[in-house]
Amino acid sequence: MKLDEGENVLQEDPFCHVLLQQHRGSRCDMCFDSSDDLKKCTGCGGVYYCNRLCQKRDWMVHKLECKCLKAIAPKIPMDSVRLLLRLVISQNLNLPMNNQWSRTVEDLMAHTDEIKADPDRSEQFAKFAYTLSEYAGKTVTLPDLHGLLKLFGKMVINSYTIYDGELRDLGIGIYLSASKLDHSCRPNAVATFHGVTLVVRAVSDIPDGTSDKVFISYIDQLSPLEERQEALRKQYYFQCTCEKCNDEEFKETMLSFCCPNSQCCGAVCLNKKRVFGRCRLCGNSDFPASLRDGAMAVLDECKTRLGQIQEKKKDKKWKAVLDSCKDLLQKSASILHANNIYLVRVLDAAFCAAIEVEKFELAAKYGPRTLDPYRLYYGDNSPNVALQLFMVGKIQLYLQDMKTALKLLEMSRKILAVTHGIEHKIYKDVTLFVEQCREELRVQLEKSVS
Ligand SMILES: [Zn+2]
Ligand SMILES: [Zn+2]
Ligand SMILES: [Zn+2]
Ligand SMILES: [Zn+2]
Repeated sequence: MKLDEGENVLQEDPFCHVLLQQHRGSRCDMCFDSSDDLKKCTGCGGVYYCNRLCQKRDWMVHKLECKCLKAIAPKIPMDSVRLLLRLVISQNLNLPMNNQWSRTVEDLMAHTDEIKADPDRSEQFAKFAYTLSEYAGKTVTLPDLHGLLKLFGKMVINSYTIYDGELRDLGIGIYLSASKLDHSCRPNAVATFHGVTLVVRAVSDIPDGTSDKVFISYIDQLSPLEERQEALRKQYYFQCTCEKCNDEEFKETMLSFCCPNSQCCGAVCLNKKRVFGRCRLCGNSDFPASLRDGAMAVLDECKTRLGQIQEKKKDKKWKAVLDSCKDLLQKSASILHANNIYLVRVLDAAFCAAIEVEKFELAAKYGPRTLDPYRLYYGDNSPNVALQLFMVGKIQLYLQDMKTALKLLEMSRKILAVTHGIEHKIYKDVTLFVEQCREELRVQLEKSVS
């Protein structure tokens, strides 16, 4: 069966899910809608719902969870411990299968051997088993240790992060059908969420749309080969052999430098002998070793300081983020190529920080430089690209460059129609901005005519 770009591959409600702790009290624990009029569960006082209907829909599972939460209050277990208990309860309920590909918890991969051989995960499991048994108390009967390890494996390998249209993490959930889909660093489909309902849509035409020919990305595609491979190995226990992982030129582009020939805007890459190869644009290859050493030093500094920038971002120290980025951008100018992944990450951090401290002119300088590399690494139809276009478009609108804003917002909207569909809230949000832009352009035109 052929699937067209933008077509639904799969739509599925979670088998079990939890709202992240940081949203407790501001979003409904069942549907994740935000509201300032949520009703607290009077049993445990630990979960919140929009209304009776949402509470009722959650009651089968929460009935038992409620007792467990009450027993350990005011302590609240970690989100993943809560998810595991909900997984146990949901499985015990033996509900009829209602997911598209009729999968059960039995069908999920557990990778127990790999977990046993992995010291970090084994230790994590030991802590988990202890906390979970305290939390479950006498209310929920847990499987024996081997059974629990299997369920733990199924959870860590198969859980999805549930996020909204603006890519903010809201919760985690287990989706039995969707967990059948394999990974590719160059996916032909994307998973998005409408509330807590997962929807997988084709982002390009898929000639054979059977489930083993549909690929989504499990990880951030804006990462160089080694980082991607390590993330997949550590988190999911497999070696990625996708088309992108085997593309030597792609791998080099992610780490490319500016051609040292100042007349040329091409990219040079380190070859296997760790020297600069031939420039793809001007053909030059006669570069002194000192140039390479200087360029490598800049790249290493970027890598190291990006780690620190990440920490500062977490602490919302935006001014410090912006200062660090400015410094790095100055140092790496005409050294790191526009498509170098670390340069793109610095630009991205600078863009976010500039928006946070309301320096919109600066944001308008940084944001647009991320757009081409984003497309290159995420692919044309990607939620990340759409959101970046939306943000840069909004900045241009704010700065009254209506024509540019309209162009970017239209591009964003076109991608969202494919990745999210026209019923999604984010599509409707972008549409409002497109209309605002058109209206302002119309007014400008009228003024100039009269
Ligand atoms: Zn709700
Ligand atoms: Zn409760
Ligand atoms: Zn790959
Ligand atoms: Zn060149």
